[in-house]
Amino acid sequence: MARRPVIAGNWKMHNLQQEAANLTNEIMQALKTEDKEKLPEVIIAPTFTSLYAANKALKDCGCGKVRLAAQNCFYETKGAFTGECSVEMLKDAGCEYIIIGHSERRQYFGETDEMVNKKAKAILANGLIPIICCGESLEQREAGVTDYHIASQITKALRDLSKEEVAKSIIAYEPIWAIGTGKTCDATEANRVIAMIRNTVKGLYDTTTSESIRILYGGSVKPETIKEQMSKSDIDGALVGGASLKADSFAQIIKGAM
Ligand code: PEP
Repeated sequence: MARRPVIAGNWKMHNLQQEAANLTNEIMQALKTEDKEKLPEVIIAPTFTSLYAANKALKDCGCGKVRLAAQNCFYETKGAFTGECSVEMLKDAGCEYIIIGHSERRQYFGETDEMVNKKAKAILANGLIPIICCGESLEQREAGVTDYHIASQITKALRDLSKEEVAKSIIAYEPIWAIGTGKTCDATEANRVIAMIRNTVKGLYDTTTSESIRILYGGSVKPETIKEQMSKSDIDGALVGGASLKADSFAQIIKGAM
């Protein structure tokens, strides 16, 4: 079964509202002549305060080529959780996807595998799609525990999800040592880890589920690296940080995935 490629831009804590609207418009302008059917699923993830501006720009364009994601959510529906946003709030702001378990959230904000699992459940219950991040540190890679660590993260993240829910989810394999460092993981090695993740999903569910779920690579993806990454059997796209902040490089990555 052919899996539709996904290119997602994680803008992290960048872009005020006007900058977000401008970047959104520039991305759509760069994709203007591309056939919508041939494009990968293109996703942008602005920070919370710029979601409205980006969503307005997307709606005003009406071309339907770019979709909106949030970078985080909370799993409770409402209540006394100062500073948090529920999935329903993010859906209301136009989001169709939510990134969860990014290594920066795990490292700086104490996000655990259990929280990732609760967030995944809340996202799917609201009809949105989780982009579940996983990845090993340099120390874990050097200690030879990469596969064990990632299989454990994925098993915990997917706990109690149905196979239908898992089939429509997205996983992003992001080796922490490759994020924002300019050091891209070798495409063959990234593909090996991603195939291992797919095999883990197969063991937890079945072949139909493991062949349906999209698994992306993330970590210093650039216009120069995307073609080789996309040529690999199990890499279904990319989660892009730095290179998604400029319309030109993001558009080149999108076009490289076609
Ligand atoms: C990311 O933040 O998810 C990421 C992959 O960043 P970068 O592309 O800058 O390494």
